Amino acid sequence: MHQTATSPQVDPTVTAAAPLADVDVCIVGAGPVGATLACRLGRAGLRVAVIDRVGLSPMEHPDVDGRAYALAAGPKLFLEEAGVWDHLPLPSCPIEDILVTDGRPGEPASSLFLEFTREDANQPFGWMVEARSLRVALNATLAATPEVCVLAPAEATVTRQDDGAQIRLTDGRSFHARLVVAADGRRSRLRAEAGIPLTKLPYGQTAIVSAIAHEFPHDNSAIEHFLPAGPFAQLPLPGTQEHPYMSAIVWSDKDGTAERFAALPDDMFARQVEKRMGTGRLGRVQPVGRRWTYPLSAQYAQRYVATRMVLVGDAAHGIHPIAGQGLNLGYRDIIQLSSLLIDAHAKGQDVGAPALLARYQAQCRPANMLMLAATDALDRLFSNNNPILRLARDIGIASVHRMPALRRAFVRHAMGL
Ligand SMILES: Cc1cc2nc3c(=O)[nH]c(=O)nc-3n(C[C@H](O)[C@H](O)[C@H](O)COP(=O)(O)OP(=O)(O)OC[C@H]3O[C@@H](n4cnc5c(N)ncnc54)[C@H](O)[C@@H]3O)c2cc1C
Repeated sequence: MHQTATSPQVDPTVTAAAPLADVDVCIVGAGPVGATLACRLGRAGLRVAVIDRVGLSPMEHPDVDGRAYALAAGPKLFLEEAGVWDHLPLPSCPIEDILVTDGRPGEPASSLFLEFTREDANQPFGWMVEARSLRVALNATLAATPEVCVLAPAEATVTRQDDGAQIRLTDGRSFHARLVVAADGRRSRLRAEAGIPLTKLPYGQTAIVSAIAHEFPHDNSAIEHFLPAGPFAQLPLPGTQEHPYMSAIVWSDKDGTAERFAALPDDMFARQVEKRMGTGRLGRVQPVGRRWTYPLSAQYAQRYVATRMVLVGDAAHGIHPIAGQGLNLGYRDIIQLSSLLIDAHAKGQDVGAPALLARYQAQCRPANMLMLAATDALDRLFSNNNPILRLARDIGIASVHRMPALRRAFVRHAMGL
């Protein structure tokens, strides 16, 4: 699936072997985080190059990604500022109610529950956006932003020095950047080359990601149902003509078991999904499209900065999808970073200066570590069948349910406001 710069496939966004101008910022990795940052910086007048080893158009293919992201209010606003939100080809679905429950497969959820309702916030908790839809919007925005030079499919060698970085493509062309942003995902090559240590926390869990159609409307509600083998989430999606009521599911289960569930025939898979909802409010379900499995682990970089370089998104941190916060954390990184860069650029200052990079790390890393610790603790607390722990956590979630001020504080934090 991945093509390198030597691949014969030509992406229309690459200008054939034209010499490359120097830039303020070179972003390596045009995933959702890198591509959105490029759009935002370009709109603010910075000269940007963004490099990805995969061509951007092939990423729009529906088979490339089966995910749908739950985007919080802060990241949505940033996508609007970057000019991306208006290019989404499919409607997003607001999440207006979240029911948090605990239970066992095939049994009704515990009567002690936590529910976030419309009264807890003055706007939706988040918006469900299909990964493919976001990709199409990012590609359209990149193409419409003249300050951004897209180099994909392409691979580059980056040499960093105190006064800037030299980027050399495999076709021999090279250019200079004042700052390199590593947005090259969990297996970041730039992070490894900079010698930044990475800590990994395996979960022994795999997530099954898929879309389902159901009998009754979801009313823009989501469910997070904690089960002994891992959490099960249902997230509302917009309906289609064929399937008026649809949702995404992220079902985490033990490694090995998850793959077997994912391979079940449609009707058996649907019954297993129904057993994990903890409530019958959506009625009978039917799988739609492909099922995807992702091994789950958390990881974090020991630092986010090196000479003339910063890490953003999954290159800096990867967390359990238990709270649907992975991409939201990446967006929080680039919200902070772009604000620092745009400000420095407007004042004619150096966008790769060590003090600016240190400020970025200080603003982002502690909050990201907190979120990582919280999702890690949630998964470890809930993914077991210990009766004492079950009682304690059920009382815990029911207590939060009864404390509207605490509920609203949780909501504000998760929404990135
Ligand atoms: C099962 C599952 C469900 C999830 N659900 C949610 C959710 O509901 N909400 C949410 O917010 N998040 C969710 N996430 C997390 C989310 O998918 C990631 O956080 C997000 O994709 C990270 O974006 P990124 O741009 O940092 O990295 P990536 O998406 O990994 O992009 C990295 C890019 O860099 C390119 N690249 C890599 N190496 C190089 C190189 N050497 N040179 C050039 N280019 C390179 C790659 O081709 C790729 O395009 C989920 C994750 C999983 C596993």
